[in-house]
Amino acid sequence: MKIAIDGPAGAGKSTIARKIASELDFVYIDTGAMYRALTWEALNKGINTNDAAALQKLALSSDIHFENGQQIYCNNINVTSDIRLPRITEAVSGVASHPAVREIMVEKQQDMALTADIVMDGRDIGECVLPDAEYKFFITASIEERARRRMKELQAKGIACDLQEIKNDIAARDQSDMQRPTGALKILDDSIIIDTSNLSIDEVAARLYAIIREG
Ligand code: C5P
Repeated sequence: MKIAIDGPAGAGKSTIARKIASELDFVYIDTGAMYRALTWEALNKGINTNDAAALQKLALSSDIHFENGQQIYCNNINVTSDIRLPRITEAVSGVASHPAVREIMVEKQQDMALTADIVMDGRDIGECVLPDAEYKFFITASIEERARRRMKELQAKGIACDLQEIKNDIAARDQSDMQRPTGALKILDDSIIIDTSNLSIDEVAARLYAIIREG
């Protein structure tokens, strides 16, 4: 079985996807982490995020994979914490905007989905990566709530931040993710929309779980 979870930044997708995957005993794949890992490698190598040809080459030659659940490796370096740094968050949408990069990443993600029951989250999962998914959820929340949640997360990691700045960053990322030529974030005809603004993670997970269980 394949479960696709799409939605904008900070809506709680990853937490919910992880929870559902663990409840169902499915493999969870965080595709945002894969784009972040590629961005980490690009910045390390001094590649400009507008350079589609260099990024395409990098995506083809980089080994990006998960180990022990959610540890992500890029060319055998564990980048799990580094990919959450603000410099990566600021650059990742630019890297993900290139159709040539997306084509390679989508193929890697489809390969990962071949051998297991999976829950995959991202932006284009229902449309491009797993168009045949049994369930396609679109998880969203107001931008105010998403910014508040992101601020809490960053504060918990000891990263200094400002609410208005986070809100601006999220809005810019939403714009970029919704307007790119391929793999844009959008609600599909068969998306099940869930607004998490006034729901706890447990309430959202319970709702998804009930929908999946009812078949
Ligand atoms: O999910 P997360 O916020 O970590 O994703 C980081 C970025 O990676 C997104 O803003 C988006 O630009 C890109 N992304 C994407 N397609 C996906 C998953 C993430 O373009 N399937």
